[in-house]
Amino acid sequence: MERSADMMEKVVSLCKRRGFVFPGSEIYGGFVGSFDYGPYGVELANNIKAAWWQAMVNRESNVVGLDSAIVTHPKVWEASGHVGGFSDPLVECKECNTRSRADHLLEEVGVFADEKMTVEEINTVFDSVRDKIVCPKCGQKNFGSVTKFNLLAKTNLGNFKDDWNADPTYLRGETCQGIYINFKNVLDSTRVKVPFGIAQIGKAFRNEIAPRQYIFRKREFEQMEMQMFVAPEAEMTVYEEWKKKRMQYYLDLGFKQENLRWHEHENLVFYAKAAFDIEYNFPFGFKEMEGVHARGDYDLTQHQKFSGVSMEYLDPYTNEKYIPHVVETSVGVDRTFLAVMTEFYDEDELGGEKRVVLRFPKKLAPIKVAVFPLLKNRPELVEKAKEVFALVSEHMRAEFDDNGNVGKRYRRQDEIGTPYCVTIDFDTLGEEKPEFKDTVTVRDRDTGEQVRVAITELIEYLK
Ligand code: ATP
Repeated sequence: MERSADMMEKVVSLCKRRGFVFPGSEIYGGFVGSFDYGPYGVELANNIKAAWWQAMVNRESNVVGLDSAIVTHPKVWEASGHVGGFSDPLVECKECNTRSRADHLLEEVGVFADEKMTVEEINTVFDSVRDKIVCPKCGQKNFGSVTKFNLLAKTNLGNFKDDWNADPTYLRGETCQGIYINFKNVLDSTRVKVPFGIAQIGKAFRNEIAPRQYIFRKREFEQMEMQMFVAPEAEMTVYEEWKKKRMQYYLDLGFKQENLRWHEHENLVFYAKAAFDIEYNFPFGFKEMEGVHARGDYDLTQHQKFSGVSMEYLDPYTNEKYIPHVVETSVGVDRTFLAVMTEFYDEDELGGEKRVVLRFPKKLAPIKVAVFPLLKNRPELVEKAKEVFALVSEHMRAEFDDNGNVGKRYRRQDEIGTPYCVTIDFDTLGEEKPEFKDTVTVRDRDTGEQVRVAITELIEYLK
């Protein structure tokens, strides 16, 4: 479908209407940058995470998993550089006090800037085009000067003083620091040897100045990160391998190549060797979905320096000692979720009726099979349908639905992307046509075609 504001509205409305995504704290008027996943949203998000884990951990012989704490010793964030430098450039409209990301406003008028620039650099750039930049809220062109705003969110967890701000620690701003600080633990407790990777899925928190574009930019979000620890001379070869694998991953999931592209960072941080993003064609255009970075030995060196614990690796074959270099892949669950909703959203006509259909790949579909009794008020149909539901739900995520007529149920299942609907009708009971006894109708989401399948063969058919 054509990418547009209209498409975004349709996706957002479908997500709310069908229980994928709800605005956070809605009954209290909402809470900016916060969203809740509803009954189908949590299934889709879980399937996205499972697909990632399968590709990154299960299928990789030298990658292992981890689930580290969200709140850590505050020194972790000093070592990582987040306390000192994890900030975005902020600019405030003098007319309506709306705060915006200065780099994003500059991007809109075709001028490059990013969070790695100093305050002086970004102010010079901003001042040179000030007369072209308009406030996204009130449309005026009256801004103050650009300042830097730290994105880390503080917490008083473990602090029992009256002053909440005394000795703060932080909610993690990214999941990978938990991986670096466990590098030695994993090495000493498992069979892995360099090169090996540690993968983790978990929540991260950032005080985003202007969370916009729905779940694309949240303040509480979820990341799926994998850090590969490699010998210094292998870094770029491993980096190229992972670049290929990560793009292929999206194609294997069913994304179209034309909606994916690589974007090279214009401005590398001093320690990085290479940084590319996979951008997806969201309804508001191509934007970062995943980062693939060659980070040198910066992360482990910093933690060695701040903790005093050696991060050196002794190569058992060459007896060489070195601090491993890191190749990172980092993607957000929420951005993948929005990309999946966008990629597989479709509208077509089936049997002369317009419909909305989510053409999810089966592995991502929240519900794999819906089971219906043809009529709700016929106990013999309902009983048989419940039996079939019990059978199917042993094998896959299924849903029992007896609301409204069958046509309406099909529309609803199309809108949540269910690949198959199974209907139990009078033929199933074998009342008039004994040859159809104990068979059901299976309807395909994409084609609308229906076939008759024996209940004894149903699981095999669906699988
Ligand atoms: P951006 O430039 O869009 O702010 P970033 O470069 O700061 O993103 P990274 O720090 O590289 O992002 O984080 C890795 C991934 O985590 C991103 O590619 C994205 O998928 C996800 N992510 C980062 N920030 C957010 C957020 N505020 N909301 C949702 N997902 C996020």
